[in-house]
Amino acid sequence: MMDAALQALKQYFGYDRFRTGQDQIISRILNGQDTVGIMPTGGGKSLCYQIPALLFPGVTLVISPLISLMKDQVDALKDVGIQATFINSSLTFSETNERLSAAAQGIYKLVYIAPERLEVSGFVRILEHMHVSLVAIDEAHCISQWGHDFRPSYRAIPAMIDRFARRPAVVALTATATPRVTTDIRKLFGIEAEGVVATGFARDNLNFQVVRGQSADVFLLDYLRKNRDQPGIVYAATRKEVDRLYARLTQQGLAVGRYHAGLSEKERAASQEQFLYDDLTVLVATNAFGMGINKSNVRFVIHYNMPRNIEAYYQEAGRAGRDGEKSDCILLFAPQDIRLQKFFIDQSDMDETLKQAEYHKLEQMIGYCHTETCLQAYILRYFGERNPSGCGHCGNCLDTREKTDVTVNAQKVLSCVKRLRERYGKIMVAKVLAGASEQKLRSLHLDRLPTYGIMKEQTQKQIGEFIDFLTAEQYLVQQGGAYPVLALAERSLPVLKGEARVLKKGHIRAERLAVDDALFEVLKQVRKTLAQKEFVPPYIIFSDQSLREMSARLPATDH
Ligand code: ADP
Ligand code: MG
Ligand code: ZN
Repeated sequence: MMDAALQALKQYFGYDRFRTGQDQIISRILNGQDTVGIMPTGGGKSLCYQIPALLFPGVTLVISPLISLMKDQVDALKDVGIQATFINSSLTFSETNERLSAAAQGIYKLVYIAPERLEVSGFVRILEHMHVSLVAIDEAHCISQWGHDFRPSYRAIPAMIDRFARRPAVVALTATATPRVTTDIRKLFGIEAEGVVATGFARDNLNFQVVRGQSADVFLLDYLRKNRDQPGIVYAATRKEVDRLYARLTQQGLAVGRYHAGLSEKERAASQEQFLYDDLTVLVATNAFGMGINKSNVRFVIHYNMPRNIEAYYQEAGRAGRDGEKSDCILLFAPQDIRLQKFFIDQSDMDETLKQAEYHKLEQMIGYCHTETCLQAYILRYFGERNPSGCGHCGNCLDTREKTDVTVNAQKVLSCVKRLRERYGKIMVAKVLAGASEQKLRSLHLDRLPTYGIMKEQTQKQIGEFIDFLTAEQYLVQQGGAYPVLALAERSLPVLKGEARVLKKGHIRAERLAVDDALFEVLKQVRKTLAQKEFVPPYIIFSDQSLREMSARLPATDH
């Protein structure tokens, strides 16, 4: 069966072999086994249903959320001689009917349908009479309210599938699914756990970087000037911000376009077209731009603001480098981004449970902006991969600042969280560790815990910052919305057992320098004494190292 699949791949698409995951997904579909396919953006999800569609006797229905994308996909299929069409709200009533009756006669191999159509009364009943071999659900995470792009109309798909007299095969495809979303997709489509084929999320050609503590505008201008001819996208959080950046960059002599939902349809179409056909190298846009955009040579995606969660970030950043060439994914972080995203969540009409889930995701996004370890690995852990290795080329992997072993302090914090039974927030944990003498602690008997005061050499603030670090590094998680409590993450268990070390970069080095400076001060004094009194106290022995460093650092006149 896979021979026929390979032959179709060669004949219609001109490729010689399947990519990782494609063969497995396709052979499952051809065997009539329902499947959830998780592949990174650009991984080649479309072929996973297009090849079976060519081999199955009946028609393949493709549920796809984007009207603009459908036409492109259908045109591309027609170009290679595959009968395909689409049905969405851009068609008139009679056009829709014509296409549906042609489909019923078996003229098309693939019919793309917008999910909203399934909610139009009577529509599903027409589909029922077709010979449907396969239902493919693209961007399947849209069915889960735990995903980042929930679309209620996706909920109509399972019922539609159930109405066919002969149940078609089902494949649900997505690039962004946390374990929770994957489970949701499986349950809603009735797919067993073995039916999940995931190729891993790693995109090795992407260089992730977080820029903090410097002006985003300065960084952006500088980057765009240095990469003048490179196609790229700059995402900003609001329309207003897009307009402002567009004006600013244009004023600085950079040829950029803009895209957001506040522009007229004509303007948007023009921007998109120019960008796709390389007439415009850089596009400044809100997240309204990009879903399903198939431009392979995007060399960078810069987020001018922090997005609301990792799923959204990875999907947007993942639009870079679909051709496999090295590309940059840069996030410019500023603390006010957090306030903006919290505002968006508060303002939304989600119910309380969903809001809490969103807060939790936002925490993890903030953690990404503060992590000191591999950024790609951070994302992979978020999506449920165990022990991903460092990529070796993200901003953090390339950060050569010295690392200090902070395992013992980490163990202290983690065991305190454990002793507190994961019922208290950051401030309380820091108080217990610092050994604060407060009535509240005493009345809760927290001052009797074995971890009470075990970090009293540090201030509460320092301990709090260290807890932030452990949270950013995914050793701890914040649970609950408005009053989050600290809980242990899976990653913390090996640390508590003494099987893994925790390393910290950065300001520790400043402490080290301070020690160095103090030491040099002593040595300087000693040498002065030595010169004046020709007397060496017996307990001072100069090492070669200290003499060398001393002469390197002390001015020559200081003898
Ligand atoms: P996704 O939907 O997973 O983001 P697409 O289906 O749009 O990815 O495919 C991305 C690109 O990869 C397309 O240009 C496609 O032609 C190409 N591609 C897919 N499968 C193969 C393959 N087996 N060999 C070579 N190129 C492939
Ligand atoms: Mg796709
Ligand atoms: Zn890395």
